Amino acid sequence: MKVIKFGGSSISTTERVENVIRLIDEANKDDSIAVVFSAFGGVTDQLIRLSEMCSVGDEAYTEELQELEERIFRFAKTLIRAKNQSSVFAHLKSTLNELEDVLHGLTLIQELTARTLDFIMSFGERMSTFIICEAMKDRGMDAEFADAREMIKTDETFGAARVNFELTNRKIREYFESRTALQVITGFIGGTPKDETATLGRSGSDYTASIFGAALDADEVEIWTDVNGIMTADPRKVPDAFPLDHVTYEEAMEMSHFGAKVVHPSSMQPAFEKNIPIRIRNTFRPDFDGTVISADAKETQHRISGVSSIEDIALLRVQGSGMMGVTGISARLFSALARADINIILITQASSEHTICFAVTPSDAHRAKDVIEDEFSLEMQVNQIDRVVVEKDLSIIAAVGENMRHTPGIAGSLFRILGKHDVNVVAIAQGSSELNISAVISKEDETTALNAIHSTFFESLRRKINVILVGTGLIGGTLLRQIRDHRHPLGDAWKFDIRVTGLANSRKMLFDPNGIPLENWQDTLEQSSQASDIDILFENSRKYNLTNCIYVDCTASEQVAQTYPKFIEHRIPVVAANKKAASGTLEYYHRLKQLSHTLDTPFLYETNAGASLPIIQTIEQLRDTGDSILKIEAILSGTLSYIFNIFDGETPFSEIVRHAKEKGYTEPDPRDDLDGMDVARKLLILARESGYELEMDELVIEDFLPNESFEVDGIDEFFEALEDADSAMTERVKTAQQSGKVLRYIASLDGNSAKIGLQEVAQDHPFYTIGGGDNIVAFTTERYNETPLVVKGPGAGAEVTAAGVFADIVRVAKLQKQ
Ligand code: ADP
Ligand code: ASP
Ligand code: MG
Repeated sequence: MKVIKFGGSSISTTERVENVIRLIDEANKDDSIAVVFSAFGGVTDQLIRLSEMCSVGDEAYTEELQELEERIFRFAKTLIRAKNQSSVFAHLKSTLNELEDVLHGLTLIQELTARTLDFIMSFGERMSTFIICEAMKDRGMDAEFADAREMIKTDETFGAARVNFELTNRKIREYFESRTALQVITGFIGGTPKDETATLGRSGSDYTASIFGAALDADEVEIWTDVNGIMTADPRKVPDAFPLDHVTYEEAMEMSHFGAKVVHPSSMQPAFEKNIPIRIRNTFRPDFDGTVISADAKETQHRISGVSSIEDIALLRVQGSGMMGVTGISARLFSALARADINIILITQASSEHTICFAVTPSDAHRAKDVIEDEFSLEMQVNQIDRVVVEKDLSIIAAVGENMRHTPGIAGSLFRILGKHDVNVVAIAQGSSELNISAVISKEDETTALNAIHSTFFESLRRKINVILVGTGLIGGTLLRQIRDHRHPLGDAWKFDIRVTGLANSRKMLFDPNGIPLENWQDTLEQSSQASDIDILFENSRKYNLTNCIYVDCTASEQVAQTYPKFIEHRIPVVAANKKAASGTLEYYHRLKQLSHTLDTPFLYETNAGASLPIIQTIEQLRDTGDSILKIEAILSGTLSYIFNIFDGETPFSEIVRHAKEKGYTEPDPRDDLDGMDVARKLLILARESGYELEMDELVIEDFLPNESFEVDGIDEFFEALEDADSAMTERVKTAQQSGKVLRYIASLDGNSAKIGLQEVAQDHPFYTIGGGDNIVAFTTERYNETPLVVKGPGAGAEVTAAGVFADIVRVAKLQKQ
């Protein structure tokens, strides 16, 4: 059996709740389960805010309460069909009335006790769990609401109640014994001996799940949240953080104790005692396995498992000459703090015993100071102990991991990194278990410190893919943006990091073996003092021993296309958006293919035809499985596709071209589209891929415009010359129309003969209706003989072309070995 818990983030909207109900329905089919819910995302915070407002008599609380009520009813209304709504609404109404009464009472007494706050917070879980349970019943599921206060029995430490396990375990087992329906349990709350409501501390629903799991001897406890598991660091603070497959109970406890909010530290205890694994999973990515927390430490290459932080702490320093050599000082100090229920996060004591430092949450700082000054008032009067110093605006960062035990040098590396990044360390502590080294630092250094530590301990572990990109025009620039935006979110699925180590345009270049920051590469490249030189980029990649390099060409340069063999010869794969290599001489094409084949080094150029449409891949797949390509018919120019789609003889041809140019649909000089050369290159590549040995001069290109239009000097002159062709073009389209046809610029291959030109196409032809600037390729093969295989869609534009190059890079990266 499994106990499954869903956190507030998994149920913060009605769509998310729907998704969760589907997940539960699936899980329920395979296994017997019980489910635990937190409050809807943000509700606990809102209840705390309401309590605080009421406790100072702030009347504006009524608006906040109204907002909460509306949100709660919206959930109920959306998730439950009208015919089942009335009893649900009645129950919610009375629950909310009860909440309103307590809050109103609080405005009168104006004193917020931990007991009252716990009671107010309990409404969050009680309402969310009730609504979701009703929604499940509404969908025909056999579900039953279970109020955990009846089973989890605690003491009266409101705010973080301690569980009476003996009683609780018995109650849970008794409760479950007589029930067959799926139990839908409120997280976070328990009941005291006087049957008052107490909470288990913030994030306590995780604990609830573990308590139930242990009592019921579950096989696994699952905690579903909004990240792919326990990560090497908080992903909101460390973008490079990645999920861990496995951690031990102790590691998880240390990390969560030191700020990794993803799971509540106490949750580990009940599961640990019964040796039940806890799995952290992502509600939004159920396909990921998540992180398993269990007793056995798995072999990893990591020296540490994670780095976490507590953003805001206060440090109290007690010092004085009278503390040296006197026994019992620290015992008195910490007993006094314990009596006052002050939680101590970290303690350090210098061996001179002159000073004791400890960290608490800032809200406890002044109370702690008072408690100590009270306890040691006598010693203070005679100056044996100085006044207590409180330092604020501090954070704690902690490196955690099983591997740290008995591994020398970790503390050394940690503090060296902090020093290197100019982070001042205020205090240091190492747990005696050696599972954790913590440092107190200034709050403003927190993110710097986290990222610096993370990159030192983890950077080298994930496989690095080193991209060397030449060409930073429209496509190269878009590609850099796509890599920048997607490499972190996708890195978890890929299990490798893509970084750009070399970057060049026609003038300048950059090289950084650690990866060029992609946030402002334009400025960095512009300011670079290195003149562009591909040979140097190549040499550098070898000099710095960069493994897993990929050479990417986003230029249109003949010269750059000549550099590929050198890279492939050194087993550096090549991805080209540039068509010049594959459409160069047949001999060069064969040489590259041969090299790539014998050295098992990919040379990919999917975007050479139809941007990211799967055209070259399709040919490859067909031929790999024994098919032969007999014929290809294609529209391969987005620009010409667009122009002939619009050209109906009403507007002169030249005007349409002018308009297309203004909209940026043509090359800067539209002749580069109209002369058919670009289409010819694409057809040549498709022919070669299909196994036809063709050279460019064997292609028949039928001009549809007079040569004179192409021979003039500038673009303005070209447009003037183009006007002279208008009447002939109009006549041509009108003639086609008379027989119900349209004009299309078609590239076709029939066996060994390839030609390109304007054709009239009838209504039953697949190219008759084609959208905007779409490309279309129809393959007639031995297998696809009756009806051709057709690939169709947007085949031009920076976004899709760059995405095609990106896809080639990822394909290559997946093939590369460590
Ligand atoms: P839930 O609402 O599901 O209980 P929480 O907000 O309590 O979710 O916890 C999940 C959040 O914990 C994540 O979104 C992440 O920002 C944060 N977090 C902090 N440290 C870590 C870490 N080391 N690994 C994963 N998540 C972490
Ligand atoms: N709703 C509670 C909180 O926000 C408990 C939980 O989410 O686990 O702290
Ligand atoms: Mg949580």
